[in-house]
Amino acid sequence: MVESFFDSLNEKQSQALRVPHDTVLQVVAGPGTGKTKLLVSRVAYLLLVCKLPPSDIIVTTFTKKAANEMKERLEKMLIDHPEIDLNRLQIGTFHSICFKYLKFYGKYIGLSKNVTIADTKDQRDLITTAIKNLDLDNVKDKRNTINEVKNFILKQKASGLFPDNVVTTTDTEAQYLQVYYEYQRLLAKHSALDFDDVLLHTDKLLQVRPECVSYVKHILIDEFQDTNDIQFNLMYKLSKYCSNSITIVGDADQSIYGFRNATYANFKKVETIALQRNQRFVKISLDQNYRSTNAILRLAENLMRHQTTRENKNLVSNNNLDTPVNYIKHRDEYDESCFIANRIYKIVNDPANKYTYNDVAVIVRVSRTFLAIEIDLTRRGIPYRIVKGLSFWELKEISMAVDCLRIVALNDWLAFKRVIEWFCAGCGAKLILKIEASVYSPEINKNDNVFEIVKSYVDGKLSGATAKAKQSLKQLISVIENCKLEIEKLTTLQCFEYIMTKFDLIDNVLKKKTSKKDEAEILSDINANIKELKNQIVNYDPEKDDLLQKAHEKTFIEQEMLNGGTDNKESENINDTIVDSSKLKFIQQFLEHVHLAEIVSSEVENDKGKVTLTTIHGSKGLEWSAVFIPSIVNNILPSKFALDQHDYFAPDSLIDEERRCFYVAITRAKEQLFLSTYDVVMNDIMVAKSSCFLDEIPKSCYKIISSFVTPSPTYGLGGMYVVQPKTFVVKKIVRHHSTATNIPPTVLGSTGMTYNPVTGAVVRPVNNNQPTSTYIKKEE
Ligand code: ATP
Ligand code: MG
Repeated sequence: MVESFFDSLNEKQSQALRVPHDTVLQVVAGPGTGKTKLLVSRVAYLLLVCKLPPSDIIVTTFTKKAANEMKERLEKMLIDHPEIDLNRLQIGTFHSICFKYLKFYGKYIGLSKNVTIADTKDQRDLITTAIKNLDLDNVKDKRNTINEVKNFILKQKASGLFPDNVVTTTDTEAQYLQVYYEYQRLLAKHSALDFDDVLLHTDKLLQVRPECVSYVKHILIDEFQDTNDIQFNLMYKLSKYCSNSITIVGDADQSIYGFRNATYANFKKVETIALQRNQRFVKISLDQNYRSTNAILRLAENLMRHQTTRENKNLVSNNNLDTPVNYIKHRDEYDESCFIANRIYKIVNDPANKYTYNDVAVIVRVSRTFLAIEIDLTRRGIPYRIVKGLSFWELKEISMAVDCLRIVALNDWLAFKRVIEWFCAGCGAKLILKIEASVYSPEINKNDNVFEIVKSYVDGKLSGATAKAKQSLKQLISVIENCKLEIEKLTTLQCFEYIMTKFDLIDNVLKKKTSKKDEAEILSDINANIKELKNQIVNYDPEKDDLLQKAHEKTFIEQEMLNGGTDNKESENINDTIVDSSKLKFIQQFLEHVHLAEIVSSEVENDKGKVTLTTIHGSKGLEWSAVFIPSIVNNILPSKFALDQHDYFAPDSLIDEERRCFYVAITRAKEQLFLSTYDVVMNDIMVAKSSCFLDEIPKSCYKIISSFVTPSPTYGLGGMYVVQPKTFVVKKIVRHHSTATNIPPTVLGSTGMTYNPVTGAVVRPVNNNQPTSTYIKKEE
């Protein structure tokens, strides 16, 4: 079976596949040239031909989804080899692999086995507390400063620096460094690590105990262009005992994580280090593209010729389709989204294409572009899925739901504090600070039990709560106690629903939401998101995680034995803790899982599948038959930040990184690519301008198509809405007049657009009282 997979590789891929395993192998090649395919095959080769045990191989991918896909491919390839236990393969994101090491070996650097991950809101809260605790003049009470401090800390961590190793040059930096110290102290108090800490602590662990990875025989990294300093160093630490056995694949043109300090210069560094260490080093480049048509590749290459530093590429497509790339200039983003929905409908329902909705993606630079597109897709009845990144967990309803789960399942003050702030009337900042001081005090909080401390304020053992505060805290405590009691009797889904009902989550979220949307719409958003969270819970399979965890811990235990016995008492009980299947344990595992995974919608698909809506960063490594890239306008692509900061003389400017983003999006397309843009002038001010990147592409690289918008006669204020869905989609653009009574009730986002889903009318308020104009948009 596996031989046929190996046979499907081209000559250069096969050459790379068969490079001896004790070699530093670097495959640098353009999009769609089969780097990921080669990487997966090489894992199979190492297992099967080089006979490396799966536990001795580390494979890092950029997302958990990519890791799962690779594992599935390997399972298929190795179906005839049941003796190879793929569960023991160490495959996942850098973070998830490192977290497993920390869970087991963290004791050597003072971490508890129950260490948890602090999410973005925990980080923000802790930085705020750290600033308050230090009472620093410069950084007090300034919202921007919190962001600056956060960025300062993030930068140090991405460079692998704990506070002790940071060198500061200004007074402000010196103060930020103090906050960094205090922030780390607070994290430690909560037995928590933030996302970057996971890598930083693993780095520390492997300095102290390098023998933890003495069994590792090969490490493989996909999307290497997006590794930052700390990941780069970790790669060498994880491969300390086999530093000449590394496979890295990537493409400098697709480096789009510069904002997280990633740099493609790491390719060169690997080469230099290999030469210094006299290691066997092989560099292979692939130039046969198996994904896109020649038209797409030509357009992509012509765009990239504008990079300040880059070697030209000559990718050859094996796809002989001569479909041209389409370029459309629309009146505005609303015309654009209407066009996209119509066109998706058309291409999927055209039997000549044999596409399902699964074969189509809309790729955007910023997720707010989804808004208009979602409306038109819904109106057209086109199913879609949004690839949700971490932002999903930052939605109010989701983060509140997770906090409720956390306070029921964990001894977690960070979540408890927020829940008190949200739900408990009469508990002001002063009281919360007092409770926090008690929680932090080892003399008062002798049992390290947050719940007991809060209870002491209710029953008066600790003073400071008013009668009103006591009452509301008592209510909260009884809700938590009830939940703890009841959930063991319920199914997982019932248990989630019980907790949500007891905390009156939806009502509470509604009270907190500040949005221009009307209540019905907000409610429908909240319900949709909660439904997605329920899906995640229902589809979460703790057994699968247990199985993997067990497999990895087995490796770790065996390794400890080899390293001279174990002083790890907990390891003897490992099976007991894993077998524990109580609901609390389930929630704890689920929370750990969500912190390490980015979420992709898991709804059941219909026959024709769903269109994917994703950001460029979420589209890495993926491909679709037809790709739409909307809103290619200045301040979106390239971003406003990049345009504002642009230094034309810098060798690798922010604009270059934006261009690479555009390149990544373009090269996701296999057959059909639609680039669209618009110029919008309002009150003589240009509010949106077609992107400077489009000017860089020669006109011969695309075919201009029209969006068929024809202005109709003006109806005047209060004019009628005409709907003929079969032949026309009517768009009515009304300049707002204060006496207008017929403005549809639904308010969209911050643009102030109003939209009537029944009539299809879109109303745009403008400050002056100009007459109404109406356009009829003819469907193609
Ligand atoms: P990216 O840079 O976007 O991550 P990549 O170089 O990793 O791209 P892959 O995703 O591995 O490219 O491959 C792109 C497509 O080409 C996939 O559909 C893959 O199955 C196919 N492919 C790769 N190599 C071959 C080959 N030798 N023969 C046929 N198809 C191939
Ligand atoms: Mg790839």
